[in-house]
Amino acid sequence: MSPARSIVGVDLGGTKLAVGLVDDNLGILARTSGPVATESPEACLDELYRRLDEATAEYGPVDALGVGTASMVDFRAGRVVLSTNLPLRDVSLRDLLSERYGVPVVVDNDANVACLAEFRYGAGIGTSEMIMLTLGTGIGGGIVANGQLYRGASGAAGELGHMVIDYDGPRCQGACPNRGCLEVYASGQAMGQAARDTAREQPDSALGRALAAGDEVGGPLLSALALDGDPLAVAILTDIGEKLGLGIASIVNIFNPELVVIGGGAAQAAAILLPAARRVVAERALRPQRDEVRIVPAQHGVDAGVLGAAALAIIELFPDEAPARGGRG
Ligand SMILES: [Zn+2]
Repeated sequence: MSPARSIVGVDLGGTKLAVGLVDDNLGILARTSGPVATESPEACLDELYRRLDEATAEYGPVDALGVGTASMVDFRAGRVVLSTNLPLRDVSLRDLLSERYGVPVVVDNDANVACLAEFRYGAGIGTSEMIMLTLGTGIGGGIVANGQLYRGASGAAGELGHMVIDYDGPRCQGACPNRGCLEVYASGQAMGQAARDTAREQPDSALGRALAAGDEVGGPLLSALALDGDPLAVAILTDIGEKLGLGIASIVNIFNPELVVIGGGAAQAAAILLPAARRVVAERALRPQRDEVRIVPAQHGVDAGVLGAAALAIIELFPDEAPARGGRG
């Protein structure tokens, strides 16, 4: 019987910051979330400290912190190197947090920790070759090869959202110097932009009427309308799902995964995105890869980040106590 551990998992996304208390069986005991401060590095860190101060005061003593951040991370050094959608670069986040809270801290890329949660305790149970794409503000990627999270030379591998699908396409977001990245076409940001453009161009559509009524027109409304059967919203998300499929086709050719898991807050309409993506993969990817891969929605939804960050902390810091794969709950 392992001793009871309390781990705080942090999901620092490009838009949203979630903090949760997780037990050593990876049950989420408490959870708070709010917007991320993106005006400056100081504001971003202050908001993170404020949330963590509140959470640790409320949760009582904790054994460790696990952090997933929407950044390129030097995993061994626990350092944020660069972020596309956050104002953080060259920040020794692990050292800052472990000094402030007096507990061991593990920091990794947010898509990596979500990937770990799905691989060990979600959709990926039973596989050894798995890819995860998280559709959020941007698109994050996680690679599991031969049963291990693949991190690359400096821990920054898996930026699958920055795969170019149109060499002369629009500029990518934030700190990415490239053009035509998958993230430009299939992220939450892209869905929001498509919804707003359509609302303006077609004032008689459901999106147009929502805009006229002063409702917030963005990805969540687009997904809700599509899931409700609104034909225009379905058409927009089908188009986005096909773009996603273009990216997945390349991923399938390169990695030959058994499973591609699609998660993140903007994957709410997976029921529309995934069939479109599967169709493009079936048409465009090579054999035998395309015949072997399954493309499925994530099981942990918006909690994958918090859960994965806590799971990473347990696996890295208390490896003998980590719940067996699939053995959570
Ligand atoms: Zn890019």
